[in-house]
Formats: sequence, structure tokens, C-alpha cells
Amino acid sequence: MFTVSNEHFVYAMSKDNPAVLTVPSGSELVFETRDALDGQVKSDGQSIDSLDWSRVNPATGPVAIEGAMPGDVLKVSIERIEATGIGVMAAINGLGVFGDSIKQSSLKVMSVSDDGIPFDANIRLPYRPMVGVIGVAPSDEAIPCGTPGSHGGNMDCKEISPGNILYLPVFHAGGLLAMGDVHACMGDGEIMGTGVEVPANVWVTVDIVKDFNIPDPLLETADMIYSVASDDTLENATKKAVSNIREMVASKLDLDLDTAGMLLSAIGELKVCQVVDPLMTVRFGMPKEYVL
Ligand code: CA
Repeated sequence: MFTVSNEHFVYAMSKDNPAVLTVPSGSELVFETRDALDGQVKSDGQSIDSLDWSRVNPATGPVAIEGAMPGDVLKVSIERIEATGIGVMAAINGLGVFGDSIKQSSLKVMSVSDDGIPFDANIRLPYRPMVGVIGVAPSDEAIPCGTPGSHGGNMDCKEISPGNILYLPVFHAGGLLAMGDVHACMGDGEIMGTGVEVPANVWVTVDIVKDFNIPDPLLETADMIYSVASDDTLENATKKAVSNIREMVASKLDLDLDTAGMLLSAIGELKVCQVVDPLMTVRFGMPKEYVL
């Protein structure tokens, strides 16, 4: 078991970030992650003006995986997520679906445990941890950790959670895996721009998969395979995710693209991951047996 300390973090995913650790394929690691606001929020009454926005979205890492080469895929099995501090939510002027109508920005803190999250005196949220930011060094220039893309990044996909497997395309030797921005609970869309933001320990197993080419991250749940795609609009992100899965289905079942498309149209599942980051993210999936 390797530990990646939260003393090692980056604000952008980049081929120029030096690896803080190099591990063999098949390794188990625990990433100690900072929360998306980097622990700056301590109480409900705290002013939003006290926050240093340059510290938002730190990702722990990056870690190089020995032998990972461009064109390979990193298979990241999310084993367990343990919250290690308080949860924070926010209503911030200019952020999220209601950003324009928020007059007075506010912060809300809550305790987090496996048993749940007391949102207030009467409402208890379930503990459903997920990783908001997870990715590798992108193919070209550095990409801030707050932005999603084909390298992963700030996908804010609630299914990146214990028991599920994320596949990331490798663009540079070693891959350079980093992650952060864990949410103890988050709804599809992340409509206000925050989930229940928590620092956490994230246990993963990382393997290299050869001869498997994916243009965007792929997510495997108990029953489904999703393509997780990001673009400037939900429509464009949807086209990417659906096209990725259609190619896989056509190839697996030896169908032409139009026939494969009909299958997707009959039983595919399109979900919004988030609508609040610099690019929008959706996931489109099919039952496993049609895809892999
Ligand atoms: Ca996020």
C-alpha cells in the first residue's frame, strides 16, 4: 500500500508536473485529498470574502505508474472513501444554476460520517462519497483542476464512487494520476456548484490496460459502462459520450453504426454529471454486455 500525502498537490493537470511517487501497475494506493476549498471554511458564519480563490480545487499527486505509455489506459478501481473532516456547501453569487439570483453568498458546514450528514436539525443526507476531480496529464497544455476534459479532471460524476472503476486515457509516460475534490454527497448536476465538499482518504487500485483505446474517460459500474464526456454545451458533451459508446457497441456486436444507434436509442442511459464547471459533463451508458 502506497500513501500519497496531501502535502503534494497540484492546481492544474500537466505533463510538466513531476511525479511525487512512481508505483508499479497493480498497486494499491491511498490518496489523502484536500477539500475543494482547501480547508479554508471552518464555520457557517464565515464570510465568503475570507476565501482565497487561488487555493480552490487542489488535487493530490501526481503519481506515475511504471510502464504506462501514451495510448494505454489507466484502470482506477475506487475501493473506499473515508471523509477526514467537516463537509462544506456554499451558495455563491455567480456560481451555479441560480448564481445570478444569489444576493448574499453564504457557507454551510456539516459533520460527515458513515452514518450520514446532518444537513440541519431536521434533514439528514446519506453518506454517498464520490471523487469530483480525478485525471491524468492532458495531451497538450496544462488544464486547471477545475476544468474537466478527455483527461478526466473536474468531471463531478457521482458514479466515481466506491465499487466502480474509472478508465482514463494515458497521454504521457506514467500517466500522472491526481485526484481531489471529494464530495460526501452530490446530486446529478451539482446545480449550486458544490456537493458536500470534504477532505478524504481515497483507496484505489491502479492497473495499466494495453491495447484498449478510449478517447474519453469510461466508467464501469456493477451493470453499466458509461462514457463520461465534457464539452462547451450539454448537447456537444452528449454527442461525444453517445458516439463513444456507439462505436464500442457497433464493434462488440458487429453492427453498422445506425443499427448500433438504434440499440442505444432503445436502452441507453443519458445522465447529467454537472452543469456548473467551465465545461459541461454528461455520462452515457449501456448495460455491460452490449459494450465490452
Ligand atoms: Ca468539482
